[in-house]
Amino acid sequence: MATIADNLYQLHHRMETACAAASRPVQSVTLLVVSKTFPGDAVREAHRAGERRFGENYVQEGLDKIAELQDLRAGLEWHLIGPLQSNKTRAVAEAFDWVHSIDRLKIAQRLSEQRPPSLPPLQVCLQVNVSGEASKSGVAPAELPDLARTVAALPGLALRGLMAIPEPADDLQAQRQPHRELARLLQALNQAMGLRLDTLSMGMSADLEAAILEGATMVRVGSAIFGSRPRA
Ligand SMILES: *Cc1c(COP(=O)(O)O)cnc(C)c1O
Repeated sequence: MATIADNLYQLHHRMETACAAASRPVQSVTLLVVSKTFPGDAVREAHRAGERRFGENYVQEGLDKIAELQDLRAGLEWHLIGPLQSNKTRAVAEAFDWVHSIDRLKIAQRLSEQRPPSLPPLQVCLQVNVSGEASKSGVAPAELPDLARTVAALPGLALRGLMAIPEPADDLQAQRQPHRELARLLQALNQAMGLRLDTLSMGMSADLEAAILEGATMVRVGSAIFGSRPRA
């Protein structure tokens, strides 16, 4: 059976091939290892193989894993990529390095207020709904400029870019379309507001080639590394 280290080796090869096809340097795309539903030991194994950035979907599971892996904390970056309710913002502001899933102002304001001054600003992305009605989370593209303007001014946060979870599609051309849309929105924000957002968090196990072709700077990959998950 393939080990986590084997899978990581294969995955980095996939990312390199995709970067070559897109005429992009390999260092322009970073890997966020999505460890949701997998135990702390799986994170240790990926860490031993050289990985430093880990993504969690469920707040409580993420907090538990961060606590369990406290001995590695200084060398790790923890990213929240799943939905965030307002009653959990304080714990997230205190424990995580990044949040990718901000889609309303109230959550951003709370995170900013609750980020401990002893820590660097929380790095954040705005989650955009690029799949229309099929998806419940993410800010609508029409509302993105207002949200970005306000979030960019919050002192406890550093707005880094945009994130999307497009609807699954089978062929490369269909996969590329929503990723292209997210890249276009990032460019438009930077131009219209003089921002310097540098992060496009897009691409997962099934569509990372399409995402890299369209400019992804951070791909979020779980099952291609750890195997299929017991729950979705
Ligand atoms: C689970 C998840 C991923 C990783 O998906 P895989 O298909 O396992 O690579 C990426 N992003 C988000 C937001 C997720 O919830």
